[in-house]
Amino acid sequence: MPIATVNPATGETVRTFDAQGPEEIERCLADAAAAFASYRATDFAERSALLTGAADLLEADIEDIARTMTTEMGKPLAAARAEAAKCVKAMRWYAQHAESLLADELPAEADVRDSGARAVRARYRPLGVVLAVMPWNFPLWQVVRFAAPALMAGNVGLLKHASNVPQTALYLGGLFTRAGYPSGCFQTLLIGAGAVEAVLRDSRVAAATLTGSEPAGRAVASVAGSEVKKTVLELGGSDPFVVMPSADIAQAAKTAVTARVQNNGQSCIAAKRFIAHTDVYDEFAERFTAGMAALRVGDPMQDSTDVGPLATEQGRTDLEELVDDAVRQGASVLCGGRRPQGMERGWYYEPTVLADISETMRIDQEETFGPVATLYRVADLDEAVERANHTPFGLSSNVWTRDADEIERFARDLQAGGVYVNGMTASHPALPFGGVKRSGYGRELSGHGIREFCNVTTVWQA
Ligand code: NDP
Repeated sequence: MPIATVNPATGETVRTFDAQGPEEIERCLADAAAAFASYRATDFAERSALLTGAADLLEADIEDIARTMTTEMGKPLAAARAEAAKCVKAMRWYAQHAESLLADELPAEADVRDSGARAVRARYRPLGVVLAVMPWNFPLWQVVRFAAPALMAGNVGLLKHASNVPQTALYLGGLFTRAGYPSGCFQTLLIGAGAVEAVLRDSRVAAATLTGSEPAGRAVASVAGSEVKKTVLELGGSDPFVVMPSADIAQAAKTAVTARVQNNGQSCIAAKRFIAHTDVYDEFAERFTAGMAALRVGDPMQDSTDVGPLATEQGRTDLEELVDDAVRQGASVLCGGRRPQGMERGWYYEPTVLADISETMRIDQEETFGPVATLYRVADLDEAVERANHTPFGLSSNVWTRDADEIERFARDLQAGGVYVNGMTASHPALPFGGVKRSGYGRELSGHGIREFCNVTTVWQA
């Protein structure tokens, strides 16, 4: 993929960039290693002041960077502004809380005596240079979600961003420099996917985090594995949205629409499979389909737009193939199922609801990265749980019920990194975020996220 800004609303190439060559990459690696040698010794107050400074700069830039994101990947402008504001909040949260999240841990007195020590503690020390391979769908948030905790822990970052969001990538590199971080603490590498392996194998890189597709995660994790380097993977999802008879069906259907089409449907934690109990299936399906059909598809720069274009032409092709395969095999199209009429430019696709899904359809097991929902009818709680878990993914889940026993059952049995009850999945700096199964491993955000790239060191004193 060339490194370029191509506006998905028009298909026009706005700007192209040359990939960095081996010499520039070497300079970045050397700078990162040199930066870590001194930055690792800074205290929390210094790191906090730097990150707060970066948050202040980002806050002042929200309008500009939001427009850049919308131009590069097509999310509605209001959503881009909200994404930038969320980044500011996460930076401030880590600036404030990192010190307590990484405080030394002391075992119980009895265990200290039993270990033969006079004193013993676990100390969180930074790992070093962390490579972040990031996707285009939340081009600011995915990076900040890694960078804020990593920098507060004393690590330094190298960003390899998706090739279709180079201007956002360069903005991020510049942001931390402008905020006064020592040179080399956070750098953007303008490189293609093919150049990642050599960077990851370099002995100056300690670990990697990747958010993106399963093939990309598999590739990066296998290289890291062969080098015995730590990875965190946040891959795709096909989150269930389960509606039980006791739920507020009108509210569930309204939230379902937002949960499916947020970010033009291109979110790993978007609800993708809608599973309704047979007693409420018809009402839910009708309300949900009406909500999806009423969405306004159009120019993402316009405030009136609910759903913009898909980020890449390939992304739309992939989505079309999933829908066409399902329809060929007998799926019913309740709404959408095609490109919008009269919108020849740009990579738009109509919000779509499909029912009568069978297990031979690809869409039953693959992730739909766009505004396409599948509907399933289930007879009871057991079938709801089984259907929800019938996916290779396990990122998050949404359940709608007022029944306490059902809530407990879902919280116990859903194979996912999150169970959101009577609401939709949303990340927050204080809550762990990540998945199981093919959605990846490790956690981001919260104390769990900041500790992923730490050397947990036992300090034992006789
Ligand atoms: P990719 O996973 O291909 O891209 C994500 C990042 O990984 C990009 O920086 C990409 O670089 C890089 N990358 C890709 N392949 C490799 C590799 N072999 N080695 C090292 N780095 C690599 O996502 P796509 O844009 O192709 O999207 C495809 C699908 O992935 C989507 O339809 C969706 O299902 C899933 N996805 C999930 C996301 C999530 O949030 N979990 C986000 C984005 C996509 P480059 O851009 O240069 O190729």
